Amino acid sequence: MPPRSSGPLIIGSGIAGLYVALRLRELGENPTIITKARLEESNTRYAQGGIAAAIGPNDSPRLHFRDTVAAGAGLVDLPAARLLTEDAPRRVAELVRFGVRFDTVEGVVALGREAAHSRARVVHAGGDATGLTIEETLRERVVEAGIDVRERTVLRRLIRGRTKGAPTVVLSRPEGDGVEETDPRPVVLATGGAGGLYRNSSNPSITTGEGLAIAFRAGALLSDMEFIQFHPTVLRLPGAHPFLITEALRGEGAVLRNSRGERFMPRYHPQAELAPRDIVSRAIVRELERTKATTVFLDATGIPRERLFGRFPTICHFLVTHGLQPDRALIPVVPMAHYTIGGVRTDLEGRTSIRGLYACGEVASTGVHGANRLASNSLLEGLVFGERVVLQIHHPHAGAPAPPRRTLAVVWPPPGPGRAGRSAFDEVRDLLWTRVGIVRDAAGLSGAVRRFSEIGAASEPDAASELPSRLAHASLTAYLVGYAALARTESRGAHYRSDYPVPRPSWRTHLGLVRSASGGG
Ligand SMILES: Cc1cc2nc3c(=O)[nH]c(=O)nc-3n(C[C@H](O)[C@H](O)[C@H](O)COP(=O)(O)OP(=O)(O)OC[C@H]3O[C@@H](n4cnc5c(N)ncnc54)[C@H](O)[C@@H]3O)c2cc1C
Repeated sequence: MPPRSSGPLIIGSGIAGLYVALRLRELGENPTIITKARLEESNTRYAQGGIAAAIGPNDSPRLHFRDTVAAGAGLVDLPAARLLTEDAPRRVAELVRFGVRFDTVEGVVALGREAAHSRARVVHAGGDATGLTIEETLRERVVEAGIDVRERTVLRRLIRGRTKGAPTVVLSRPEGDGVEETDPRPVVLATGGAGGLYRNSSNPSITTGEGLAIAFRAGALLSDMEFIQFHPTVLRLPGAHPFLITEALRGEGAVLRNSRGERFMPRYHPQAELAPRDIVSRAIVRELERTKATTVFLDATGIPRERLFGRFPTICHFLVTHGLQPDRALIPVVPMAHYTIGGVRTDLEGRTSIRGLYACGEVASTGVHGANRLASNSLLEGLVFGERVVLQIHHPHAGAPAPPRRTLAVVWPPPGPGRAGRSAFDEVRDLLWTRVGIVRDAAGLSGAVRRFSEIGAASEPDAASELPSRLAHASLTAYLVGYAALARTESRGAHYRSDYPVPRPSWRTHLGLVRSASGGG
C-alpha cells in the first residue's frame, strides 16, 4: 500500500525525523514518516547527557562556537558551526513549546558541564533520560497531529528523479507484504549513523548505517566517512549489554582510574577527564596496553550519593540492577564506537547532491563537527539542520553542496571475485572494530578494505531490479569508512593513524566520496 499522503517522505523517527515531520505539519505540509522498527526506536531514545545551548548567564553562542571549532581539530565548517550555535537556544525553546520538560533547579533550567565545553551549557531532562524524554514527547505530538506513520517499513533503495524531478524510494515490510515504489516526492533522509555496525558500540543494533549505503548507491556525495567518534566510557560488565556512562558524570567530578587505581588523565591532557573524546579514548587504549587490563574504571565515589542518584537516575538504576553500587564501587568502562561524524554531504539548507533529497541529523555531513564532535552537539544538529530542511521543503530553492577539494570516485560494486561466507556480517563488524577502530594503520586498513570489497562483490545484487541485502549495505558502509580512513594519511580528531600520528596541513580538508560513473547501476 503506498503512503496515503503525497507530501514529503521522512525516513527515520529519531529527533531529526520527528522534528521535521512536526514542523512541516505546522506549515501545512502533509508528511509521512517511514521507520524501520517501532516509532520510538532510534539512537535518540538512548541519549543521556543532553543538548548543548548557550543559555546560561555567563555563556554566549560565541563561546559555544569557539568550543565547537576547537574540538573539531581544524576541519569545522565555520558557517555551519555559527548557525548551529546561534540557533541552539531557539531550537531548545521549540522543544519546550512541543512539551519537553527540561530539568530545573529552583525554577531555573539546570545546565550540565561536559567535556571540552568551557561553560555548563547542557540542558537535560529526567536527569540522564534526555533522549527518552524528547523522543516520547515528540512521538506524542506526532500522534496528536495525525501524521501518517509507517512503522516496520524499511527504505531499501532510492532512485534519483529524471532531470528536475524528485526522487522515488523503494520500501519493504519485513512481514512479507512485498515491495513498493513511491511516486516522486521530496525525501528527507533522517536514518541516523552507522555506529551499531561496530562489534563494540554504544548504539542500539538497528543503527547500521544503511541510509548511507542507499544514498551512495543512488549517486549522492558523501564526506568525512573516516571520522567515527568513539565514546570513552561505555560500561563493560559481565552479563550486561554495553551501556553508555555519560560524560556528564565526569562533568560532575567522576575521575578515570586504571586497573592499578591510578588516576591517569592528568598525564595526557590539561583538561584531564574533560579533554575531547578522542584524546580520552586513546589515553584509555594506552592505559589498557600498559597495564595489560581489559577495562579502566570510572570513579564516582567522590560525588555525594544523593547528587549522584538524583542527577543520573537511569545510570544508577542500571548499575544497581547489575549489582554495582556506583557511590561505593568503581565502574568498569572501555571506549566503543559511538557517533558517525561523516555522512551524506549537505549544504546549510540540508540539500544533498541529489535534487529533492534532503538529509539531517546523524546521517548528514554538514561539516559542523569537523574531525571530532563536541559532546551534546548532535541532538542539536538534528533540530537546527532539521529546521533548515523544513524551510527548504516549504520554499524550495535550487542548490547543492559543493564537493570537497578532495573528492574520490569509488567503484562499487568492486571488480573481482566475491567471497562472503555464512558469518560475513559478523566478520564486517569485527574487522571494523579491530582494523578501522580507535588506532588505525595502513596494513590493518588495507586488509579490512580488501575483505569488505570481497564481501561486497559477493553480496551486491547483480540486477538493478534486485534489492540489496543487509549484508550488501553493511559491507558497502564499512568499505566507505575504511576506504576514507586509508586515504587520509594523517591523524586528526577522531581519526588516528599510528603510521601518520600527526595532522598534516595538506589534509586540512574534507574528503568526499562519490560513486564512480563506471560503478554499475
Ligand atoms: C547511548 C547514546 C547516548 C547519546 N547521548 C547523547 C547526548 O547526550 N547528547 C547528544 O547530543 N547526542 C547523544 N548521542 C547521539 C545522538 O543520540 C544521536 O546522534 C541522535 O539521536 C541521532 O538522531 P537522528 O534522528 O539523526 O537518528 P536516530 O535517532 O538514530 O534515528 C534514526 C531513525 O532512522 C530509522 N532508520 C534507519 N534506517 C532506516 C531504513 N533503512 N528505513 C527506515 N527507517 C530507518 C531508525 O529506525 C530510527 O528511527 C547519544 C547516542 C547514544 C547511542
